[in-house]
Amino acid sequence: MSEELQVRQELCEVGRRLYARGFAAGNDGNLSYRLSDDIVVCTPTLMCKGFMQPTDLCLVDMAGKQVFGPRKHTSEIHLHLEVYRSDPAVRAVVHCHPPHATAFAVAREDIPSGILPEVEVFLGIVPRAEYETPGGSAFAEKIRPFLGRANTVVLSNHGVVSWANTLELAYWRAEMLDAYCRILILAKLVGNVERLPDDKVMELMNLKQAFGMGADPRQQQSASLLVNPTFGKRSKS
Ligand SMILES: [Zn+2]
Repeated sequence: MSEELQVRQELCEVGRRLYARGFAAGNDGNLSYRLSDDIVVCTPTLMCKGFMQPTDLCLVDMAGKQVFGPRKHTSEIHLHLEVYRSDPAVRAVVHCHPPHATAFAVAREDIPSGILPEVEVFLGIVPRAEYETPGGSAFAEKIRPFLGRANTVVLSNHGVVSWANTLELAYWRAEMLDAYCRILILAKLVGNVERLPDDKVMELMNLKQAFGMGADPRQQQSASLLVNPTFGKRSKS
C-alpha cells in the first residue's frame, strides 16, 4: 500500500473517532497530514468527518491551493498550514470542537496546569488563542505566538487545534485535553481543585525529559509553573 493511501485511510479512521466521540458535530472539524515538503492531504469542507472515504480527501500545496481531489478543501486549511510552516517535524494537525475543552474556550478560562501528572507530561501547557473569525489567515495567525512552545491550543469561542509528528498523537492530544477538561469541570463541582506543589511539577518535567520527550518550556522560565492557579478554588467566606 502506498504511503498516501495509508494516510488517507488513517485520516478517515480519525474522522470516525472524532465524530463518534462528539468532538465534531455535523460537518465540524478538519484534519490534515503533510505528505511531503509541499503537499498536504486534508479533509474536505461540508462533509461529516464520520463518513469519509479515502477518495473524498483533498491535496493542497503549502499556499493552500488545491492541487487534487473532487471535493473542495477545508475552509480552515490556513490554520493547518500555519502549524506546518512553523516546524518541519510536524506531520499532522487535528482541529475539532470537543465539548469540555470548548467550554473552556467559550468561558475564556485558561486551561489550568499543575493538577494531573499525565497532563503535565504528555500535554504540557495548553495556551488559549484570541478569537478571530474562522477560516482566513488572520484566524490562523492567532496561534502564531504559541508555535514551538505548545502542541495543543484552545481557540477562544471556537475549539481546539493540536499537532504532532503522527496523526494518532495529534488526535490523542485533543482527546486527552477533553478528558482533562471534563475532570476539571467535575472536580470544580465536587469541591476544591487542588494543585501539585512546584517541586512535584518540576519532578514531572524531569520525568518528561527522561522519557526522551524534550525539555518543557517551563523548565527554562523563571515564571510560575502554574497557569490559572485560582481555577476551582472556593472563595473562603
Ligand atoms: Zn472549527
